Amino acid sequence: GNSPSRRIRRLRRLSPEERQRETETEALIALSLGFPIDALLPAEEAILADADAAAPNDYIVVRNHILASWRADPRVPLPRARVLETVASSYDHLVAAAHGFLTREGHVNFGVSAAFPASSPADALQAPAASVLVIGAGLAGLAAARQLLRFGLRVLVLEGRARPGGRVYTSRLGGGQAAVELGGSVITGIHANPLGVLARQLGIPLHKAAGGSQGSRRGDLAGGRDRKAEKVVQCGQKRGREGGSGLASGKP
Ligand SMILES: Cc1cc2nc3c(=O)[nH]c(=O)nc-3n(C[C@H](O)[C@H](O)[C@H](O)COP(=O)(O)OP(=O)(O)OC[C@H]3O[C@@H](n4cnc5c(N)ncnc54)[C@H](O)[C@@H]3O)c2cc1C
Repeated sequence: GNSPSRRIRRLRRLSPEERQRETETEALIALSLGFPIDALLPAEEAILADADAAAPNDYIVVRNHILASWRADPRVPLPRARVLETVASSYDHLVAAAHGFLTREGHVNFGVSAAFPASSPADALQAPAASVLVIGAGLAGLAAARQLLRFGLRVLVLEGRARPGGRVYTSRLGGGQAAVELGGSVITGIHANPLGVLARQLGIPLHKAAGGSQGSRRGDLAGGRDRKAEKVVQCGQKRGREGGSGLASGKP
């Protein structure tokens, strides 16, 4: 009958049970990304009309659908038009609200995929007038700069060091024959961690690391590389704590 999952999709022919299952799967994906399963984030309440905010179930189903659709293949952008094809037209306003919110807040359509246009997409913020100064070319600053560029803003990044990367730093040894990570190198959790998306967009394979400080499961890196990788991480962390890597002490 009247549940949002039954009303909303229009193109795919699914039985009510299949549709219900799909809606539940999408809700779990949204949950794993940090969204409450049956409630709005405060920032979402602010963008919805009063009536939609008071009865948010339809919006939540649409929002979860967009999140799950993009995560199915984050190498390509998910334009609003594509979402509209899969949702009944009476919910167009909810698609507009959810797609706009998720894009602006960087929950979908973010990252470094070659398929993302260098210029701002058609549904970017209208006529942005502002220029933005980003202080620091670490992960956060570079990601913010890239996203703001996609929104069509003008961006200048200022970095105090002679190199980008901040606390992510690869030290080359032996004339470049070997390398050791002196800062961030392990992705902990791939669902809510945007670095998991970046790895997929760049086609970088991920490998489970062994237990120790990074978790309790056994890893699957071949040839004892697990133990070596773990040692390097722990050594890097120790040096970081002692300030020996230069990262904790503000150098290089
Ligand atoms: C030893 C070590 C190991 C780590 N391991 C992991 C890991 O395995 N996995 C993980 O996820 N994370 C790890 N981290 C944490 C991770 O590296 C950081 O969370 C992440 O790099 C922080 O990025 P950021 O952009 O927020 O800050 P930063 O990388 O610190 O970037 C800030 C940038 O701003 C610049 N800056 C600051 N002030 C100014 C100013 N006034 N003017 C101009 N420039 C300025 C700095 O020079 C720097 O480049 C590790 C960190 C360390 C130190």
